[in-house]
Formats: sequence, structure tokens, C-alpha cells
Amino acid sequence: MKDELLDLYREAGRIARRVLSAGEGMVRPGAGVLETVEAVEAMVLSAGAGLAFPLNCSFNEAAAHDTASEGDERVFSTGDLVKLDLGVHLDGYVADTAVTIDLGDHGELVQASRAALDAAIALARPGITTGELGGAIQAAIEFHGYRPVANLTGHGLDRYLLHGPPGVPNIGHPGGMPLQEGQVVAIEPFASTGSGLVSEAARVEIFGQIAVRPTRLPSARRLLDLVRERHGMPFSRRWLDLPKRDVALANLVKQGIVRTYPVLHDVPGSFVSQAEHTLVILEDGCLVTTA
Ligand code: MN
Ligand code: MN
Repeated sequence: MKDELLDLYREAGRIARRVLSAGEGMVRPGAGVLETVEAVEAMVLSAGAGLAFPLNCSFNEAAAHDTASEGDERVFSTGDLVKLDLGVHLDGYVADTAVTIDLGDHGELVQASRAALDAAIALARPGITTGELGGAIQAAIEFHGYRPVANLTGHGLDRYLLHGPPGVPNIGHPGGMPLQEGQVVAIEPFASTGSGLVSEAARVEIFGQIAVRPTRLPSARRLLDLVRERHGMPFSRRWLDLPKRDVALANLVKQGIVRTYPVLHDVPGSFVSQAEHTLVILEDGCLVTTA
């Protein structure tokens, strides 16, 4: 990887680490979800970077893809297990990192996903397969007595591309893709007290453009004008200041121009923890850009 490119990944990682750490300190019982999410997102922009996706703020059995909605009145409460997942980009080069904040008594569960991430990072180098990384993640989570979430994976990153190859599973399997020098990979173990499988909830606050096609509805056209500069990276409903926004979104989803990212959750009453870092694979190991 060229030095200038590595520098961009490093700088995006530095900003993400600093902002996420500040966000972690804001998640306290009684604090507002909307205020917290907006404050964290504003810190990224004032650092001169862009948001690769809306700040994910997912509670308890929700593993991912929740964020504040417009007028969101939710507050953090004692007992909550909160995942903050932040994506920062510089010129399209992404740092993707997440932490879990325990407002209850889920310390061991938080430790499980962290230990799994550490185990994967310790192994990450050219030639190791994604199946072997998944095996290390699974073993660490099961050692702590929880289930890895089998249908969520880490992923390769590329310019403006958030979920490219290779997928990095949270469970072991034979084979898989060998990592290569120069690849950028986000690894994100999820540990659960529930079934270890997530499904889609009805709640949708995050969207992304997946096709470029002309559309007739004027409000839909204006929405596409607003999100064009995202180059396909996800956006939140809350970001769109537009009359007939929800009609436009529904129309674009129906046409297959925009996709939804529904909240992903394990069974009701369960708790899911997440830890995530972005890595650049180097000749003799890896550089963790977000650590
Ligand atoms: Mn993430
Ligand atoms: Mn990710």
C-alpha cells in the first residue's frame, strides 16, 4: 500500500478512535440518545472528516443498525447494554470501529467480544484464512460462555465501499479466503446471551443508495441529489431535511434504487456485545488503525 494511502487510513483511524472514546463517555443513564448521536457525529465533521455511515447506537438485544431518529426521545437507562459503532472516512477511506458500553452487569459479555477481537488481531497477517480468524473469534466467545453471532461478519473495506470482500465470520469453518498484504479489513465479533442469530426488526432509520437510475417522482429526485455525494455509503433518515422525505424514501426503496438497513436483533430479552477495529494487513502482521 502506498504511504499516502496508509496515512489517510491512519488519520481516519485516529479521528475515529478519539471521537468514539468521547462518545463512550457520553453514554450515561439519563443522557438522551438523539443528543449523544448528534454530538458524536458533529465531532467527526468538525475534525474535517466525513461519516462513512450514521453513528449506530444499538441497545441490548439489538446488535446493529439502530440510530437516533428525528425527535427521538429515548434516554440511556441503568441496565442497558449500548453498542456505539462509528464509521469515519477521509476521501472515501474508512475507519470502522465499535465499542460496547455496559450500564448494567454485563462485564463478562463485553469482555467476550473484546477478547475475540484481540485474538483475531493477534493472528491477522497475510496467508491466514478468514475461516481460521472465525475459529479464533468463536473460541474466545465460547470460552466466556456466550454464543458468537453466526450471521454477522467483519468485512473488507475499499474506497467508499463498506462491505467488500473478504467477509470475516464470527464462527470457524474450513477454508475461507487467505488475507493478503494491503487489504483493509474490519473485524467485528458479536457475542450474545441469546440464539446467536440476528433477524431484521421493523425499525429502519438507515438507508443506502444501491443503483443509479432516473426516477420521476420530484421528491425522490431531490432526495437522490442530497445523497449523491455519499457515493453509496449509508445515510440516516434524520439527516434528510426534505419535504415528503418518507414518501420519497419508500418510493426509492420500492424501485430498488435505495436499500434499507433494518435494525438487526437477537431474541427479545437477550444481550449482544460488539467490539470492532479496522486493520491494514502488512507484510508481517497488521496495523490496527483505530486502536
Ligand atoms: Mn462498524
Ligand atoms: Mn463494520
